[in-house]
Amino acid sequence: MRHRKQILRLSARFAAGVAFGAWLAATGGGAQIVGQLFGPTTALAQEADQMEVSPVKARERETYYPNSEDLKPDEMRVIACGTGMPTTRAAQAAACFLVELGNGDKFLFDIGSGSAERISSLQIPYNYLDKVFIGHLHTDHFGALHDLFIGGALLGRNVPLKVWGPSGATPELGTAYALEHLQKMLTWDLAGRAGLVDFRGYVMEVNEFDYKLENEVIYDENGVQIRTFPAIHSIDGSISYALEWNGLKFVFSSDTYPNKWFIEYAKNADLVIHECFIAVPELVSKMKFSPESALLVGTQVHTAPEAFGKVMSAIEPRMAVAYHFFNDFDTTPGVYERIRSTYDGPLSLSEDFMVWNVTKDDIKVRMAVTEERTWAPPLAAPAELPKEEDKVAMAEKLGVESVDFSDFIAGGVWDVDDVLRPIYEDASEAFGQDFPYPDNSAPK
Ligand SMILES: [Zn+2]
Ligand SMILES: [Zn+2]
Repeated sequence: MRHRKQILRLSARFAAGVAFGAWLAATGGGAQIVGQLFGPTTALAQEADQMEVSPVKARERETYYPNSEDLKPDEMRVIACGTGMPTTRAAQAAACFLVELGNGDKFLFDIGSGSAERISSLQIPYNYLDKVFIGHLHTDHFGALHDLFIGGALLGRNVPLKVWGPSGATPELGTAYALEHLQKMLTWDLAGRAGLVDFRGYVMEVNEFDYKLENEVIYDENGVQIRTFPAIHSIDGSISYALEWNGLKFVFSSDTYPNKWFIEYAKNADLVIHECFIAVPELVSKMKFSPESALLVGTQVHTAPEAFGKVMSAIEPRMAVAYHFFNDFDTTPGVYERIRSTYDGPLSLSEDFMVWNVTKDDIKVRMAVTEERTWAPPLAAPAELPKEEDKVAMAEKLGVESVDFSDFIAGGVWDVDDVLRPIYEDASEAFGQDFPYPDNSAPK
């Protein structure tokens, strides 16, 4: 009886929802919001069972708490790990979207400045975060790659980091050149770590492909296909990606001016993420651009909100996602209204930690609540002990006898052996294993 009452009550709520939806639609709001909020009636009937209010039973939550939900075999989960700009701010990292698939595969699309912290707060074992696809070589799209490369290896990635990215008009403007030099930039960092940790994760595999490829497959494994097509942004060498798996299609623009390839190859995709820049008035008032620069950057280099809407009206995705603007209470309504002047379909104005659960039947949009004080996630595969050979190999690579301290620096050591020895003794006792104190007390 009580159950029946609940269903009736829910039906009343649903009817109220429809009325609310009609009002929203009439006022230019979104019927799609209602679809998300209220869902199909069968889902409501199921929900009735789960919604019994109890002082002791867990109730459904509106928030995604990482590591509290299994990914279903047919489900795609996308998490915004960066939605902002090259001008850094604490509230939003720069471009980065994590795609997690029910088959166990995970992919990062762009890895802009500040996004590595967002990724770490999801507490995903780093061996699973070994595939990065870069759309173009602006720092707000790959500026945290070295953080994931080094930090991920330190926190348990013991497989190479694989990175895909486009060529450019000349070899110097391509991904291979950029990442070869990024690794050179890290020479000192890597030289100092060799021999101290499991060194297998400090390897980067770079896959550069032709930026002029038009919807061609650049990744095809485990039922996942990733295609690339050209973008129009900054100079030649920007591209967009489409990922297809299990009948679901995810498209990520990286940065681009509206272009014919995106209209063609993102058509009817499930989740379509396209850049949408700050409106010109706010570029002047908030970003302190001159009107001349604001007009150029806000409409000619990037996609203006009105143009974003026009693109989405042509593509008709199940969910359009706008990113690449600072999402604040006083500026976002302007972006929204401008998009709505050209597009009335499903829309997410993204911010960091927005989450989309995508299945064939439903796209659920929520925010994640994450921990800030994260430590290492679990290891997906056991670590190897540090090897002296890694240090020797590093010295050989650098053409030096050794990467140990010079006599000059080692000669500066001030003796604290008396307080360090007991740490070794304690560890030996705690682990039931003998850890001999190093002969030479100088740091290695
Ligand atoms: Zn860019
Ligand atoms: Zn950008």
